[in-house]
Amino acid sequence: MEEWFKKRHARRKELTADNLFTKLVTGDKQALSSAITLVESAAIVHKKEARKLVKKCLPHSGNSFRIGITGVPGVGKSTFIEAFGSLLLQMGKRVAVLAIDPSSLSSGGSILGDKTRMPRLSVHPNAFVRPSAAGSTLGGVAATTRECIYLCEAAGFDVILIETVGVGQSETLVHSMVDFFLLLMLSGAGDELQGMKRGIMEMADLLVITKADGYNIAQAEVAAKTYNNALHLFPQKESNWVAKATTCSALEDKNLETVWEILERFYRHARSNGWIGHQRKEQDKQWLMEVLKDLLLKDFFQDTHWKVKLQEMEELVRKGEMTSLQGAELLFNSFKSS
Ligand code: GDP
Repeated sequence: MEEWFKKRHARRKELTADNLFTKLVTGDKQALSSAITLVESAAIVHKKEARKLVKKCLPHSGNSFRIGITGVPGVGKSTFIEAFGSLLLQMGKRVAVLAIDPSSLSSGGSILGDKTRMPRLSVHPNAFVRPSAAGSTLGGVAATTRECIYLCEAAGFDVILIETVGVGQSETLVHSMVDFFLLLMLSGAGDELQGMKRGIMEMADLLVITKADGYNIAQAEVAAKTYNNALHLFPQKESNWVAKATTCSALEDKNLETVWEILERFYRHARSNGWIGHQRKEQDKQWLMEVLKDLLLKDFFQDTHWKVKLQEMEELVRKGEMTSLQGAELLFNSFKSS
């Protein structure tokens, strides 16, 4: 018992901002991992230390290429990240992989970010793979992931891959925290250029048709050509970058260098014209609003007093004694003056 207590006490002591920061900036992955745990923690004491730590890390952050990667389950995200990440490691880069996983919210389980999905990267000394953060809202998880980007950068990771599953609104969230958005697609899935994909396609800086090997090569090439033609029809991006489509086979390590060359070309282009810096500032502004909205909503909707008041008002509206507009205004005004 005493031993257990001592260990726990020692662990708690380690989870202080000063302690973690000193180790983290030397590139210590264990410290980075503990730092992320601290940032993800809901405990009040941890929150205070986490804020202090992120603040300390901020001046050391900003030096990475932040890349978002998305695609439907089965498209080949983990195989791609494993192969692409390994290529970057061979080039001497330090690669971090973070995940935003909407499935972890509803099911408690996770289809992303599982370390076993990227066995080579997970054990490489210059790579860091972090399973998806836990949280109660997607916005909350995304906000934490943003802080984790700063921590990874302070720990010297120069390429950060932020992965998400191509379902729901998680792509938009990832898009709002990266410099480059890479969309993995299957050829012949029959949904080219259709409905819900269009919005995501408009966000993409590069479309990569996966599994371009064996019998699939020709079909993948045709799909890439079709997308390349279609991408020209989309509105011009603020970054002045024209989105492209290409193919790759992560399983056979084919065309991954070309993918990296395209990304590098973008990075040079967007650094030199100042777009990356500008975009990051815009993203910070947007996140300030998001988090503020989240806090304001929480303030109202999680307060027992206002929960009761809302129920009472719902009853009045249901009975027709008050219109929705009157009810909302009345509640809002009394909340404001409380
Ligand atoms: P995720 O769900 O998007 O992470 O997809 P996975 O990376 O788990 O891949 C799903 C399936 O596609 C697995 O069976 C992979 O082996 C397969 N796969 C992934 N990349 C390739 C590839 O480049 N070529 C081929 N032929 N199969 C691939």
